[in-house]
Amino acid sequence: MIADYHIHTSLCKHAEGTPVEYAKVAVARGLSEICFTDHAPTPHGYDPRNRMELDQFPEYMQMVKEAREGAPIEVLIGIEADYYEGCDDYLSNWLESHNFDLVIGSVHYIGGWGFDDPSQKEAWKRADVSSVWKDYFSLVARFARTGLPDAIAHLDLPKKFGYIPAENELVDSAGPALDAIKRAGIAIEINTGGLRKPVKEMYPSPLLLKMANEKEIPICFGSDAHAPDQVGADFDKALCLARECGYTTCVRYRGRNQETVPLPSQGPGQ
Ligand code: ZN
Ligand code: FE
Ligand code: FE
Ligand code: ZN
Repeated sequence: MIADYHIHTSLCKHAEGTPVEYAKVAVARGLSEICFTDHAPTPHGYDPRNRMELDQFPEYMQMVKEAREGAPIEVLIGIEADYYEGCDDYLSNWLESHNFDLVIGSVHYIGGWGFDDPSQKEAWKRADVSSVWKDYFSLVARFARTGLPDAIAHLDLPKKFGYIPAENELVDSAGPALDAIKRAGIAIEINTGGLRKPVKEMYPSPLLLKMANEKEIPICFGSDAHAPDQVGADFDKALCLARECGYTTCVRYRGRNQETVPLPSQGPGQ
């Protein structure tokens, strides 16, 4: 069965539910395993409205541990680490000092602009869409080259509000990032959260997922659940997309080690 590797908790200030509640839904839907990947705390004042405080981190670990102990499926502990200017050394040490199963890496900011934040969406109207995407993918490439994340989350996140460059520009800017991801040996996720956003499309698009498959970049699956009911949401569609783009395998993680497994034949119940 299929695993959901992108799940938040109420600690990030914009999600609801405890790990125990998320795990219950995962069991009901027949998922084989789940991994909590709440937004990582930082000491740098980066985007504090969307993450737990540093001193809440032990509480996060404890909550996931409780969910793990009570659940008949595998419950893994991970984190969603954001890439921002100057985070490298801190992040590297911090990740080393915890026993995560999975670190998903994401880019939500270009400079001071939270380009996927609904409250900062107006800036898209004044933006040069093509150069925003270029800047975004060069940050993704830089993050991949650090070797810090195990998988890149929502690869084409800038499409969230529908601002998408021409296909040739998209291919040109994504190509080097995918090459960096490939060289780093890390995966990308099929993230069904995009279906709940204005763009109404999974991350990444079929075009980018086909490019990733040609480069033999592995995939995993994530719902980006911010409420228990979203666990495993639309994974039937995600599996179809993976197959349509040529994938026959996906990866799973334990203690940040990647293992290739056959693509599940069937999605979870909804
Ligand atoms: Zn979130
Ligand atoms: Fe994210
Ligand atoms: Fe997330
Ligand atoms: Zn996310």
